[in-house]
Amino acid sequence: ERIVSLIDVDKYFGTNHVIKKFNLHVNQGEFLTLLGPSGCGKTTILRMIAGFEDSSSGMILVQGERVEDKEAYERDVNTVFQSYALFPHMTVFDNIAYGLSVKKVPKEEIKVRVKEMLELVQLLGFEGRKPDMMSGGQKQRVAIARALINNPKVLLLDEPLGALDLKLRKQMQIELKRLQKKLNITFIYVTHDQEEAMAMSDRIAVINNGVLEQLDTPGRIYKHPKTKFVADFIGESNLFDGAVKESKGACSSVVLETGTVRLQAGSEEIPKEAALIPDRDITICVRPEVMKYSKTPVEGFTITGVVKDVIFVGSQYRTLIVMDDGYEVKVNRVKVDKEITEGDRVYLYWDPEDAIGIGTG
Ligand code: ADP
Ligand code: MG
Repeated sequence: ERIVSLIDVDKYFGTNHVIKKFNLHVNQGEFLTLLGPSGCGKTTILRMIAGFEDSSSGMILVQGERVEDKEAYERDVNTVFQSYALFPHMTVFDNIAYGLSVKKVPKEEIKVRVKEMLELVQLLGFEGRKPDMMSGGQKQRVAIARALINNPKVLLLDEPLGALDLKLRKQMQIELKRLQKKLNITFIYVTHDQEEAMAMSDRIAVINNGVLEQLDTPGRIYKHPKTKFVADFIGESNLFDGAVKESKGACSSVVLETGTVRLQAGSEEIPKEAALIPDRDITICVRPEVMKYSKTPVEGFTITGVVKDVIFVGSQYRTLIVMDDGYEVKVNRVKVDKEITEGDRVYLYWDPEDAIGIGTG
C-alpha cells in the first residue's frame, strides 16, 4: 500500500531548478532512504512532504490524498531534524508531551503516553532532566520520542544521526531500525552516508542533482547500479568506458581506449541489450574486491598498469595500480600479496561475470 507519493514534482528556488520531475512511491511500513551528496535536494524533498516548503509543480499525496493545500500540522507526518530542535528550557517530559499538550489531551493520558515513549527510546527516569544535561544520543532519542507520540503515519528524518560520533551513530542506526520495524511506521530517512543507507533501508532512492537516479533495495543498488553516478557513489568502483566489439555466446569483448576486456552478458545482472550490441557504448564497473591482476597475460584481456602503492586500511589491503592513461585502479584484499611490489607492471583482468555493464545511451 502506497502511503506517500510524489508525482512529477519539480521545485525551483528562483531560477534554480533543484528538484527535477521527481517520481517516488513509498510503501506503508517501509524504511526508505533518500541518499545523495550534499546539495542534491534531499532536505527540499522532505520539507515538501512535511509541508514546510511548496512544490513548484507536480503532486504530493499522503495516504492517497493530495496535501499541497494542507498546513504542516494537518498532515499525518512528523519530522526529526539533525539539530534535535528540542526546547532547551523544558524538561524531557514536557518536550515529549508538547504535541499532546497543544492538542489539549487530558493530563492523565499524556502521562501514560509519555511513559510509553520513554520506555520505547530507553530513557525511563530521565523525565525531569533538561536537554542541556544530556548527551547527543540521548537528546536525539528525546526528539524521536517527541515526534512519535502523535502516532504519525510517516516519520521524516533529516540526517538525524549526523551530529553523533561514529560509534554512537552505528549503535543508533540499529536502534532506530528496530524501533521502526517494531512500530511498523513508515520512515523516510535522509542521509548522505551510503553505509548508513545500506545498513538501515528497505529501499534507497539515490539522488543526484535533483534527479532520481535509481530506486532499489540496498543489494540491488550495489550489485546492479543503473548509472555511472550510482556505481561511483555507492561502494567503490573501477569504471571503464568503452564500446562493445563482438559478442560470442554470453560473453562480449569490449574495446577500451587502453585495450580489450571481457564482459559476461545475458544474465539478470548484465542485460543482453546493454552488453551484446556491437559498437554500443558501455561503461564497465568492476568492484575493487573482484578486480584481479597477474604478472602474465590473461586471455581476453590486454589492459595493464603499474603498481603504485599498497596501503593497509585497517580491515584490508588496498593496492593502487596506475594504467597508462593515468586511471588509478583500486584492488582490495584481506591479505597482503607478497608477490608484487611498487613499480611492477601487471595485467588487469576479472571474472567476466563479476563485471557490471552500464549502458550509456
Ligand atoms: P541536501 O539536503 O541534499 O543537501 P538541499 O535540499 O538542502 O540539499 O538543497 C538543494 C539545493 O537547493 C541546493 O542547491 C540549495 O542551495 C538550494 N536551496 C535549498 N533551500 C533553499 C532556499 N530556501 N532558498 C534557495 N535555495 C535553496
Ligand atoms: Mg540536507
